[in-house]
Amino acid sequence: MSKDSLTIETVSPEETERLGRAIAALMPRGVVALRGDLASGKTCFVRGMAQHLGAPLAVHSPTFTLINEYGNERKLYHFDLYRLRGPYDVEDLGSTELFEADALCAVEWAERAEGLLPDTRVDISFQHAGDDRRRITITNHGLLDPGWPNAFG
Ligand code: ADP
Ligand code: MG
Repeated sequence: MSKDSLTIETVSPEETERLGRAIAALMPRGVVALRGDLASGKTCFVRGMAQHLGAPLAVHSPTFTLINEYGNERKLYHFDLYRLRGPYDVEDLGSTELFEADALCAVEWAERAEGLLPDTRVDISFQHAGDDRRRITITNHGLLDPGWPNAFG
């Protein structure tokens, strides 16, 4: 199978937000699984996704609530699983049905939810690449339409 992925380097938080807006524009619903070290830009990317939905509120990591909700007609559920240990904790959240909902889900620290994520999804990994540079790899697992990388041309 050909690798359905794309790596982009951003040099500012604004550019990473722009990627988030672009992904949200490409997918009416479904899960975006975000992986990467602290401060690698995951929340920044989700902020961009929320902007696409016209969410007026500031987007921060939902560290204490674990899930935040944005949007009106279209919803974005923003998970941050950092404080959880693994799939058992995530299942206890009782919110994994949101992964199948008619909504967007952005999941930070998606590795904590291994085995609970739908097979059909988008994976995004974030790496520090010096100063304000971030290397962001988007991998489509059957959710985006063919030709999706053109949106990042
Ligand atoms: P995470 O959610 O992965 O912990 P955040 O998005 O909360 O990361 O934080 C990223 C931090 O890195 C912010 O302070 C942001 O201003 C800074 N930053 C610098 N350059 C970039 C970039 N290219 N993309 C995203 N964030 C960047
Ligand atoms: Mg975060």
